[in-house]
Amino acid sequence: MGAPVSTILIIDDTRGTREELARICEEAGYKTVLADSGLEGIRLSRESSPSLVLLDVEMPGLDGYKVAAAIKQQPVFVPVMLLTGRTDLDAKRRGQAAGADDFLSKPVQPLELQIRIAAMLRIKTLTDQLDAANRRLAEIADTDGLTQIANRRRFDQLYAIEHERADRYHRPLSIAIADIDLFKKINDTHGHAIGDLALKAVSAALAETIRRSDYLARIGGEEFGVIAPEVGPAGALTLGERLRKRVEGLVVPTDAGELQVTISVGVVAWDGSAKIDAPALLKLADDGLYQAKQNGRNRVMLSAVRA
Ligand code: GH3
Ligand code: MG
Ligand code: MG
Ligand code: MG
Repeated sequence: MGAPVSTILIIDDTRGTREELARICEEAGYKTVLADSGLEGIRLSRESSPSLVLLDVEMPGLDGYKVAAAIKQQPVFVPVMLLTGRTDLDAKRRGQAAGADDFLSKPVQPLELQIRIAAMLRIKTLTDQLDAANRRLAEIADTDGLTQIANRRRFDQLYAIEHERADRYHRPLSIAIADIDLFKKINDTHGHAIGDLALKAVSAALAETIRRSDYLARIGGEEFGVIAPEVGPAGALTLGERLRKRVEGLVVPTDAGELQVTISVGVVAWDGSAKIDAPALLKLADDGLYQAKQNGRNRVMLSAVRA
């Protein structure tokens, strides 16, 4: 299986030129999509996700500079080759400023065009690979390696955003902090590997329990945070109880037999109107967790902050 065939978008108002360019591209094994105006070209650059654009400078309506600028607004890298008059340096300068990547003088030499396209497509491939690697790295930076849920770093980012949103628009926001009870004993009795298994199972159970509009993160060794936007006091208690019950009902099969664990949960529900900063709000959830531990574990303690 070879690489997928690249699509080249040709934008030129002169039919003869369009067809000539298409013939040269197709001869080199590329697919082509043709547009007879700048506007149509911009539309097709979104719809047909071309690997490269051949763009005429002089067109009625939107000229090549405007079209190049519009195509360069798009988030993926699409090389744009501008077709200018033979000695038109000023057109090249303006094209460069608009974001064009390469320039060709008309009339084009077929072989030269094919070589320049191949060179540009090589850059496009490398850029796409780099973008994909960066996206993957960004994902890794936000993910906890053991449980594959969001990590503390991601939790802090999301919490800052959601706190600010709730504060600005006076919208409710609830935070739950859940900590596995007497987890040290599991490690001490069965070993760290089995402790890890339990952590993964609890994490997966919590992930199943929350809504899609909530966020779950591992914020400490055996500690999890849930951010629940738009959830007020009644919903917050329900959320905390749901988490607690789900873990209480969880059976973790291991080499050492079936394990069961419980969690204690501190929940804070904020109406978004009372003035409280992000660390102080989080501290109230943490205080709740501490009380839940003090009161015997496997329980939920709720506090509310309202104007
Ligand atoms: P409490 O009910 O008061 O929370 O008791 P606890 O034993 O859970 O609390 P403590 O803070 O004393 O111990 C937490 C334990 O969590 C200690 C540590 O061995 C364990 N732990 C933290 N991170 C990991 C991990 O990644 N894997 C494993 N297996 N254990 C972990
Ligand atoms: Mg023209
Ligand atoms: Mg614990
Ligand atoms: Mg802990």
